[in-house]
Amino acid sequence: MNTPFIIEQSDIELLNTTANIIYDLSFEHASRHCISIKMKILRNQTDIVIVKSPVWIPGSYKVRDMNSHQYDVQIHDIHGNLLSWKWLSKSAIEILNPEKSDIVISYEYFANDRGVRTSHVNRNHAFIMPVACLMYVEDRMEEIHHVAIHDNVSWKTITTALSPIHEHATADITLYGALNYHILIDSPIEIGNHESISFDVAGALHEIAVITQESIDMEWLKGEIKRAVEIEYAFWGDLPYDRYVFFLLVSEGLRGGLEHLRCNVSAVEPSAFQDKTTAQGMMALLVHEFFHTWNVKRIRPIELGPFNYEQENYTHMLWLAEGFTSYYDDLLSFRCGFYSTEEYLSVLAQSHLGKLARVPGRFSMSVKDSSFLAWTKLYAMSPDQQNQFPSYYTKGGIVALLLDLLIISKSSGKSKLDHALKIMWELYKQDGSKGFTEDQIINLIEEVCGVAIRTEFTDWLNGTEELPYQKLFSEIGLEWKEEITVIKQDWYGDFRPFHPKKQSIFFGCSLAEDHGRIFVKEVEKDSPADKAGIAIDDEIISVNGKRMINRSMLLQALQANGLEQEAEIIANCDGKIYETRVQLQSAISYSLKVSESITHEQERLLEFWLHG
Ligand SMILES: [Zn+2]
Repeated sequence: MNTPFIIEQSDIELLNTTANIIYDLSFEHASRHCISIKMKILRNQTDIVIVKSPVWIPGSYKVRDMNSHQYDVQIHDIHGNLLSWKWLSKSAIEILNPEKSDIVISYEYFANDRGVRTSHVNRNHAFIMPVACLMYVEDRMEEIHHVAIHDNVSWKTITTALSPIHEHATADITLYGALNYHILIDSPIEIGNHESISFDVAGALHEIAVITQESIDMEWLKGEIKRAVEIEYAFWGDLPYDRYVFFLLVSEGLRGGLEHLRCNVSAVEPSAFQDKTTAQGMMALLVHEFFHTWNVKRIRPIELGPFNYEQENYTHMLWLAEGFTSYYDDLLSFRCGFYSTEEYLSVLAQSHLGKLARVPGRFSMSVKDSSFLAWTKLYAMSPDQQNQFPSYYTKGGIVALLLDLLIISKSSGKSKLDHALKIMWELYKQDGSKGFTEDQIINLIEEVCGVAIRTEFTDWLNGTEELPYQKLFSEIGLEWKEEITVIKQDWYGDFRPFHPKKQSIFFGCSLAEDHGRIFVKEVEKDSPADKAGIAIDDEIISVNGKRMINRSMLLQALQANGLEQEAEIIANCDGKIYETRVQLQSAISYSLKVSESITHEQERLLEFWLHG
């Protein structure tokens, strides 16, 4: 592709513009989850016009075939005369237009997927992901595109990172625009009666739109998000937009986020507003998605932009896009004050290092291959995936952590990864037309930080060996421990222990309950459950002759069995009962703590790492 890849837009640039590709969106059929779309293609220069739907969403590495929800396609010229057309593929249409007329494509789009990557419409609101439902005209992606939203009398508010075309909306149509198709499809739209609130940082307007049926403390949320924006602004040195939107979906069963150029969409459960740990997780998610404004939406692997919307876009470098972002989401959350030092070290121990320790697949596949195969591995969501490969989020984040510690150690506390990222951002601003290669990133880190890291870093990226935690943590006075978990003693009365002292047991599978039956969802390779032949989808019926009816009963029975003798298990595989014996193991806990014998020099390095 030789066309320029323009991804920056400010609201002022779109004011009073005209467009020759316009989408009319109306919502007469919202109650049955449908958006009615009329796509107008004006000033055609060719007698054959090809229109296409993207098959994937940048930031989410999976072929989704989103236009499977598109139906009732009709194509006319602007005067209502039928035009001849046909499907060229599952996502492309060819229109014969011998008169070079203006074209109108009308279709319905069934939008009933609630989540951060999909459109969802009902009688209460419309959340529109343009990439899922708005088609593009081949060879005309670089033009200005407009979206006309037809009034739905009961919906009062529209929030989007698209830019308004008129300073004052007309009575029944509100017009928004993007400088090109790339920006258009990167700009979701929420229409409804949602709550929104805004604040300024460094002259840029930040809007928060919360999409929920719950009652949310908007002022508290605004304070926390503003803090995150201020810390990330200080980290990078400037804000690459005039206006930015945080879309937050709050609903049971929703999790995750997706980054965009001028906004992000994040989803949390309502408990994020009731429980401290879940609230901390929500803030780390928002810090993560916002960090992507720089890392991946602008500083990016060379393969990720300009995009080919018709097929998989492979890259080995999601360790940079997602791994580095996963490392910084918790570190910057700590710098925001969302975690205390102890809490941050505990999050690293449990949610990063301890999580990877339970992934046997880290010995089977490198983080680079895990990135390259994201399309069929991480996004395939196999229940066996922990045994097959490490996530580039988890291992990529730990590689970033170790790289940071390596730089700090080798430079004796003079440089750190933060410095290299800042320079990457400066270089991006000089020429943002292309992404970075792995080699460029490594050279840049070595040059900026003044240390040699290539050998270790490429080993971590390409290898499947265990990563060297112990050595790098000890350089900054931290102790990383893997210990046998001991159940805390509980006392009955003054003297008698209620339970004899016991080690917590490790079984090695995750379980789900269904109407009094217990099913195996995942099994860790070489765990006690795996060695006993217990497999995914099996039903566990009894332990030591006792019928099991729920997960906690099963875990208690295994705990009571202890480590000294095998537990007898009766289970069901595909309708056939089998008996097996399982030798349980001690559960392992992970901890990362400041050493009691930390030296002054180690303390200095620790402070430098945490605070800069
Ligand atoms: Zn991410």
